Amino acid sequence: MGRRSRDAQGTGGSSLSSKDQPDDLRPATRLVGAGRRAEWTGTPGEPGAVVNPPVWRASTHLYPDAAALHAGKPNADGHFYYGRRGAPTQWALADALTALEPGAAGTVLYPSGVAAIAGALLAVLRPGDVLLMTDNAYEPTRNMARGLLRDMGIETRWFDPQDPAAFAAAACDRCKAVLLESPGSLTLEVQDVPALAALARERGIVVVLDNTWAGPLAFPALERGADITVMSLTKHVGGHSDLMMGSAAAGERLYQKLRKTAQALGQVVSPDDASLALRGLRTMGVRLERETATALSLAQWLADRPEVARVLCPMLPGSPGHALWQRDFTGGCGLFSLVFKGKDGAARDAFIDALGLFGIGYSWGGFESLVSPVDPAALRSATAWPLPDMAAGDRFGVRLSIGLEDPADLRADLERGIAAWAAA
Ligand SMILES: *Cc1c(COP(=O)(O)O)cnc(C)c1O
Repeated sequence: MGRRSRDAQGTGGSSLSSKDQPDDLRPATRLVGAGRRAEWTGTPGEPGAVVNPPVWRASTHLYPDAAALHAGKPNADGHFYYGRRGAPTQWALADALTALEPGAAGTVLYPSGVAAIAGALLAVLRPGDVLLMTDNAYEPTRNMARGLLRDMGIETRWFDPQDPAAFAAAACDRCKAVLLESPGSLTLEVQDVPALAALARERGIVVVLDNTWAGPLAFPALERGADITVMSLTKHVGGHSDLMMGSAAAGERLYQKLRKTAQALGQVVSPDDASLALRGLRTMGVRLERETATALSLAQWLADRPEVARVLCPMLPGSPGHALWQRDFTGGCGLFSLVFKGKDGAARDAFIDALGLFGIGYSWGGFESLVSPVDPAALRSATAWPLPDMAAGDRFGVRLSIGLEDPADLRADLERGIAAWAAA
């Protein structure tokens, strides 16, 4: 947990000048310097000065005497107290994420993306409240609403991700929060976040956005109207398929609520994982550029194949939400889905099994390409799938997470998959 404001920078006196970044730096530059405060990395010329905040493993922080213990700041960000409040490695990661998120007063870290979603919703919802949820939300988020939240007396209502009027119609006096996910996990519809946020603000509804797909580089969530922006750091920030983590960032008032709720739940992340996430963050910009370009070329190629009914990729003209993506986003990522024209789940599985370069498994955002089966119809509550302009039999698809491999090799691999689908 950490904050950027100057009153929260921990141990007084150390020079922050070079790494306490000015606000006008562009994102690629911020990715390099974010979180590398001199108080955490040392002062060049003095012993121990390094580029990266070291892995600071500690449950117990020691005080010189009882007076110092009594004088400590037990619950201020960026101050040593006890391991559950973190140490410089976690503070540096939170600080870096805050620096990348325009409008954020602070960032809370969680042991997974799902924990971040739960942490955000529990910070703003109470028994008797109603949560509105976009109908294209990530499956574990839906399950949280149907289980944990329902058991706490919080009711969830789903609405059409592409219809702000449906959101307005679903809103009521008891609605206290809305969960958006744009683009949605499997079907990738983009939501009109500014319009939805304006409707929510009029009604006093807190907007929680799962911004994992775009991240702050492609979609500055708080500037676009979200009140709390959540990310699964497991995906692009980690970037190497070797850690689980989540984050939630907000302006001052809601940041304090997030922080208090996370503390009450005892949430903490390990310094080793925070260090890996910081390492991933440094290269996130170039990885995103590369995988976005490859994904777009493959999506365009797949859209022209007769075997494919629909490519679900907001970066592709003609896809659901493309116009909103063009209006609101400054980039994308390598995650998209496609739906096959007819056939069944067995043919789809033949496609998956014929691929040699795509790992078969859940998650995305790593350096390696992945494929997983998609059957969106099974997940919808408030909207139809297939979409009204698709044939009823166009149901079975795959989600592709494009990695850093050579685009031509990936395309040849997808050709093999399509041939197996056609032969099935
Ligand atoms: C993966 C994912 C999550 C959950 O993140 P974990 O780190 O796996 O818990 C949440 N939202 C979206 C959109 C995701 O893809």
